[in-house]
Amino acid sequence: MMKLSANQLNFSGGPGALPESVLQQLHTAMLCVPDVGLSILGISHRSEWFAQVVHELEDNVRHLMGLPPTTRVLMMQGGATQQFSMLPMNLLRNGQSADYIHSGYWSGKAIHEAEKSGQLHLAWSGKADQFGRLPTDAELQLSKDAAYFHYISNETVEGLQFHRVPGRDDVPRICDMSSDLLSAPGDFNRYAMIYAHAQKNIGPAGVTLVILRDDFMRTLPDDLPGFINYHAQADAHSIYNTPPVFAIYSVLLVTRWLRHDMGGLHNMAKRNQAKADCLYQVLDDHADFYRGRAAVADRSKMNVVFNLPNAEIEQAFFQQAQLAGFSGLNGHRSIGGIRASIYNGLELAAAEQLADFMQTFRQGYKVTSATTALSPAYA
Ligand SMILES: *Cc1c(COP(=O)(O)O)cnc(C)c1O
Repeated sequence: MMKLSANQLNFSGGPGALPESVLQQLHTAMLCVPDVGLSILGISHRSEWFAQVVHELEDNVRHLMGLPPTTRVLMMQGGATQQFSMLPMNLLRNGQSADYIHSGYWSGKAIHEAEKSGQLHLAWSGKADQFGRLPTDAELQLSKDAAYFHYISNETVEGLQFHRVPGRDDVPRICDMSSDLLSAPGDFNRYAMIYAHAQKNIGPAGVTLVILRDDFMRTLPDDLPGFINYHAQADAHSIYNTPPVFAIYSVLLVTRWLRHDMGGLHNMAKRNQAKADCLYQVLDDHADFYRGRAAVADRSKMNVVFNLPNAEIEQAFFQQAQLAGFSGLNGHRSIGGIRASIYNGLELAAAEQLADFMQTFRQGYKVTSATTALSPAYA
């Protein structure tokens, strides 16, 4: 088997691993961007070169997602967290209410922020089920007069992913796709707004993509302070103030890789599916030992989250995985356990290698401490 580098075995929940070819181009750009003759860290955001970077990135995003040229693609700062606040500050000013799905850790954060700006209606909450599953359409309580409907397509912490587009088409649908944007094709024209920071799937931290349908854009207020005003950001073509040039250039390289090397989101989705399949296969084959957290129908293709029979075995798993070269497998601090994040940049061979390791680990464990692993208290 080909020997994978430490970076290729990075299963971190975020920031995630980026493709090696992108890292190599960034390495070059750090010293000198070939067309410019300057380090990427010293190129003016007002330069013609950077205007082209922004232009090509907007175009790549629209092309990959199948969006019309009228769709606004903004590069903003403040992460997904800023959008949690900015969105309700823009849309709930006139006493209107918005529908939110509470499906896990990150939607909880979004709700907590939005409550400060206005009234919310909970369309569904998975709290009683410890966020182990997502709602069916029948369970969703959607208001027809909501200012907007908000949900998170992939709950990064719990490993839950919507495999359909929930919500009503007559209410603006807004989605945080921070951990699965550009991982697969989708029906993206049905969204009024999509936002995603770069650092899980499409680049380094520092930039957040905000994608706005033009008819929705026209309904947004224009009298808010500049930094939280979508019109001001859009009019400035993402150069409202000094933008993170390095992060934006990195995302451009990732979209070029997706478009030209991978051949589009369809191919990307196939590779992501293959990675998820090989890990979930181990969970399914050894459900007594590897205990998947998410309901099978709602399993994420980005974050495979599971527990082992007890904390002691989990510790042994982390130690041996580290010795075998894997990193980033610890679950989110809020819930513990194990999380293998298999974002776009991770190669199929890395997921296969982890699946092999999991098989071997389980066998070794059965031999050395079968009673602990399979004692009645945990089995
Ligand atoms: C990581 C994550 C966030 C937090 O994003 P920041 O850029 O750190 O603000 C928000 N939403 C989702 C779905 C995430 O995975």
